Amino acid sequence: MTKLRIGVLGIQGAYVRHADILSLVGAVPVIVKYGKQLEDLDGLIIPGGESSTMTKMMGFRIAYDDILQFGKFKPIFGTCAGLILLGKGISDPRIHQLELIDARISRNAYGSQKDSFVDDITLRFDIEKPYHAVFIRAPQIVSVGDSIRVLAECDNIPVLVESGLHLSASFHPELTGDARIHRYFIQKVKEIKNGEKNDSV
Ligand code: GLN
Repeated sequence: MTKLRIGVLGIQGAYVRHADILSLVGAVPVIVKYGKQLEDLDGLIIPGGESSTMTKMMGFRIAYDDILQFGKFKPIFGTCAGLILLGKGISDPRIHQLELIDARISRNAYGSQKDSFVDDITLRFDIEKPYHAVFIRAPQIVSVGDSIRVLAECDNIPVLVESGLHLSASFHPELTGDARIHRYFIQKVKEIKNGEKNDSV
């Protein structure tokens, strides 16, 4: 079977390690810097970084609408700043959210850079072994709609959620060398590509 081609939005932030893990789980990573590159991708990761800078870059190198259109039909995995961009509810003119998932997000809700932390969470799809989640100036998911499936929580707050086509985490899953979440995303992309999942936004 031909390998899945998964883009990693490479306009700002922590995109390189995502590409390494995608190779590890058998996908072809593509660092996406221009809208045209989205055309032959099966899925996309929006990495952590700085959501205000990413918003700015989206109006410059890659069109906001290109990503929005992509996300209407194909899976996106948003991590940290990527979660901020996938969600809704932020009233800061510097952040242009895609509103592809029904989750309200609060930026920097765990505190500043020095309040970054690591905690063990349980993945609902693989409960045997704890997952070390790295939270860096992380956003918080403050409320979720009915379409959201919570896949992991930390102190009773959702930190990994699935909604229709998309997956989102408030932490950095590319930093621990534990590929289980990327593998989960790849499986989801595969099922959607093969028409086994009939999810829409
Ligand atoms: N605090 C950052 C933002 O608001 C997100 C941090 C991260 O992606 N690690 O965009």
